[in-house]
Amino acid sequence: MIFETIIGLEVHLQLNTNTKIFCGCANLFGKESNTLVCPVCLGLPGTLPVLNQKALSSAIKIALALNCQVNPYIKFDRKNYYYPDLPKGYQISQYDLPVASHGWVEIPDKQAGAPSDHRVKRINIKRAHLEEDAGKSIHDQTLNASLVDYNRTGTPLMEIVSDPDLRCAQEAYDYLTTLKLILQYLNVSDCDMEKGSLRCDANISIRPLGEQKFGVKAEVKNMNSFKAVKMALEFEENRQRQLLLSNQRVVQETRLWNEEKGMTFPMRSKEEAHDYRYFPEPDLVPFMVRESMIEEIRASLPELPHAKLERFLKEYQISEYDAQILIQDPTLSGFFEECVKRTSMIKKVCNWLIGPVLQELNLRKVNIQQIGLQTQELVNLIDKVEQGVLSNLVAKDVFKLMLDTGKTVDTIVAEQGLTQVSDDSVLEKIVEEIINDNEKVIAEIKQGKTSAMGFLVGQAMKKTQGKANPKKIGDLIKRRFENG
Ligand SMILES: [Zn+2]
Repeated sequence: MIFETIIGLEVHLQLNTNTKIFCGCANLFGKESNTLVCPVCLGLPGTLPVLNQKALSSAIKIALALNCQVNPYIKFDRKNYYYPDLPKGYQISQYDLPVASHGWVEIPDKQAGAPSDHRVKRINIKRAHLEEDAGKSIHDQTLNASLVDYNRTGTPLMEIVSDPDLRCAQEAYDYLTTLKLILQYLNVSDCDMEKGSLRCDANISIRPLGEQKFGVKAEVKNMNSFKAVKMALEFEENRQRQLLLSNQRVVQETRLWNEEKGMTFPMRSKEEAHDYRYFPEPDLVPFMVRESMIEEIRASLPELPHAKLERFLKEYQISEYDAQILIQDPTLSGFFEECVKRTSMIKKVCNWLIGPVLQELNLRKVNIQQIGLQTQELVNLIDKVEQGVLSNLVAKDVFKLMLDTGKTVDTIVAEQGLTQVSDDSVLEKIVEEIINDNEKVIAEIKQGKTSAMGFLVGQAMKKTQGKANPKKIGDLIKRRFENG
């Protein structure tokens, strides 16, 4: 029997506001436990929440970027449940009137045909709403006790719920990467899954192909990376298929992904909405957002990844492969645009950025803004290679030195005496030495093994610490052999 997989994702995004959503406590990660708390976020009796305006405008920004309808009528509701990390005994969330609904994002449609088709699949966003985060329970093995940290309590969250439009684990992965990139462009969150700023729960069910009715779904939690989401969904897809094939039932439940074992395990039976006894939050008055505020936010939206990709292809005529890499990091693509304002060597800039520059950024775990590189300096470095002053090899070392010392290309080249040697008389002397030192190789070349010439060039480069012009060295060696 052929089955169809149905996946819907819920993404929780912590917004990077200065303060929490309903109080003035700092919204910071990694501080000493229970130091960023006040009577409001601790839920002490008699306190009243006040909505953070930045959180609201970030929510509207996200709504617009995800092509959602923005609901200007803002109303909050209480979601009641008891858990030690939720001091009030309820979470302030939005129930029937979310900030945003009916949006969509487009992911590559890999099943539609050849990858070069550029076909996209639209994944609908059902709703996106604002709510407060809970605290964090820490289960301490050595103390044999559970502790709770309320620093996270009241952190603004945007919950983004997709429709069940995803049909396989890979599509879920593509949706998450597309969504994350859009959110990064908006600068509303650091989107760091390791810190929990971006979390994802997945609903998955399967049904016989052609069946209209949805199968019984399981909710999967506790995935710490997009890769883990993909693996958990693949496991779950298979588990449910095995159950149905052996005439067993899939139970509606919440399951936890166990990364080490590579399996999901049941956690609890899934709550229904009525279990939460939602009712309007009486401490926050509903209000209307002015149309002008929404329009102001719309006008301030940055260029989004897809639009940037299209523009890069058209404006700079670079390959889609290069453009895709550049747009993955808005700081890097911004740097690229600044560089090509200063030089016509677009392809060279591109190669440097997605080659040595990206390599150093990854190694040093920083972005291009944090590494302290000036666009003009990178352009100068590329110029030096083009003019034959530096070999590619040496230029890469100079680049590392620029990052380490903050010195300019010119200073480093002058200080280290790095200018590429292109002077024929000097190079001829080097070639002479190499030929005298490598009799065996010379004999091989004379017998027709011309590939060994590369070895000689390599020896010359080594001898000059990479300063020789390799093309000239190659030419000189060739000439020696031609002249016998
Ligand atoms: Zn507080």
